[in-house]
Amino acid sequence: ARAGKEDARIEGAVQIAIGVKKEVDFPTWYTNVLIKADMLEYYNVSGCYILRPWSYSIWETIQEWFNAKIKAMGVQNAYFPMFVSSKVLEREKDHVEGFSPEVAWVTRAGKSELEEPIAIRPTSETVMYPYYAKWIQSHRDLPLKLNQWNSVVRWEFKNPQPFLRTREFLWQEGHTAFLTKAEADEEVLAILDLYRRVYEELLAVPVVPGVKSEKEKFAGGLYTTTVEGFVPTTGRGIQGATSHCLGQNFSRPEMFNIFVEDPNDATGQGKSYVWQNSWGLSTRVIGVMVMVHGDNQGLVLPPRVAVLQVVVVPCGITAKSTDEQRKAVNDAAADLAAKLKKVGIRAQADLREGYTPGYKFNDWEQKGVPIRLEIGPQDLAKSQTLTARRDTGAKAPIPLTDIETTVSTLLDTIQSDMFKRAQETYNSRLREVRKWEDVVPTLDDKCVVVIPWCEEEACEDDIKERSAKASASEPQDERAPSAGAKSLCIPFDQSRWPKIEPGVTKCVGCGKDAKRWTLFGRSY
Ligand code: AMP
Ligand code: ZN
Repeated sequence: ARAGKEDARIEGAVQIAIGVKKEVDFPTWYTNVLIKADMLEYYNVSGCYILRPWSYSIWETIQEWFNAKIKAMGVQNAYFPMFVSSKVLEREKDHVEGFSPEVAWVTRAGKSELEEPIAIRPTSETVMYPYYAKWIQSHRDLPLKLNQWNSVVRWEFKNPQPFLRTREFLWQEGHTAFLTKAEADEEVLAILDLYRRVYEELLAVPVVPGVKSEKEKFAGGLYTTTVEGFVPTTGRGIQGATSHCLGQNFSRPEMFNIFVEDPNDATGQGKSYVWQNSWGLSTRVIGVMVMVHGDNQGLVLPPRVAVLQVVVVPCGITAKSTDEQRKAVNDAAADLAAKLKKVGIRAQADLREGYTPGYKFNDWEQKGVPIRLEIGPQDLAKSQTLTARRDTGAKAPIPLTDIETTVSTLLDTIQSDMFKRAQETYNSRLREVRKWEDVVPTLDDKCVVVIPWCEEEACEDDIKERSAKASASEPQDERAPSAGAKSLCIPFDQSRWPKIEPGVTKCVGCGKDAKRWTLFGRSY
């Protein structure tokens, strides 16, 4: 297999800028794109990476958008420490069991051993909730809605992948407390819809919103909702972001004991334990965007998150051109960029000396800039410029008059075209399957299956095991992503598939009565 991979690499290398083809050696393609686009740098601690400005700016755009939305919902930002004592971390049993294999510990300071090791947060429920208990005394203190933008550490042993699975990652984590379950339920969905919009409206990446199975839900939570993404090249699902209802699991007396006096209890003795949610979206979103939209020329950025939306490249200058001609073209390029910037389009003229237009084209293509405008002496004479779309490669001359409107409209078109294409692909690879014999061949076909399912944990384990065994085409390396299919989510929108008839429709996994259509797939 190694020789085959090398061959693929060599074959790809002579053909394309990015080194290897996306369809031939996807993991190498992915890291090459990240490096060549100046998004990422490797770091000498395994599983940790440097986010360079070209990717961090995407995170900033998401932050800005999401902050505005949650603030409008009454959420406030705060910051809690990254350290947590073992006593507090271990208070919620299911929670700590879920996370303990991945918790990193500080055991020493300088030369002295700490008396008690201190954990680095893998998530902040246990960091924050002792203080929620202190701050929430009366129903007037509710709801409490805090969010923090921070990093967490999960010492994962699965193969690390830049952005998708790293040992330290940036995210936001929201933690809210309510008097009633109804309020908590409503917020879980409102936040999930914001996550859907981050993917679909900002990153042009389609997702399927739904609820996780019992097996896949957040450790210690009541239920987990998720937006599930899809990487067409590998046919794998990826958990996009999660919004959890924790129920009263963390607030009950044996845990963090977060309660208010029941406002409806006339005796004044009754206690209401608060209903809590937690929700998180990480820098994983950037990796999913790269995997979905990137091509063999490199990164393809959706305009809404591109820090640079339009690059203007002066063209048509030769060794024979006079200084005057050169200046005229450069000035025209600079003017054009300035004009676009004035109306809020993120534009820049590439006036670097000593590089050919061809070199510049390639450079900006690798970095995924949505629109290139070429301008040369002949264009100037005709008062036009040539547009080149990064997503389709389509080129067209457009008049310089009213260029702001034309370019602005084109950016919107690119954004919506990118989303539509990705959505068509996802839809076409989401296959309704009715019998077990079709499950593995469909997965091998780089699709996810949607099956009528009984929602029992034993059945889910069984599906995972049987689909791993039955598959010949996937690697069995322990650290590699698994060949077995797990449940990705139970989609909220069940109307996309025929009605499940109680007592009639059977589970594809075990033959018992099916409850709902469920997405199963190989995943990251
Ligand atoms: P969780 O708290 O486990 O529900 O995680 C919240 C979100 O963070 C998930 O939906 C993932 O998108 C993301 N996430 C989880 N683990 C990692 C990781 N190791 N690297 C990057 N993102 C992660
Ligand atoms: Zn079943």
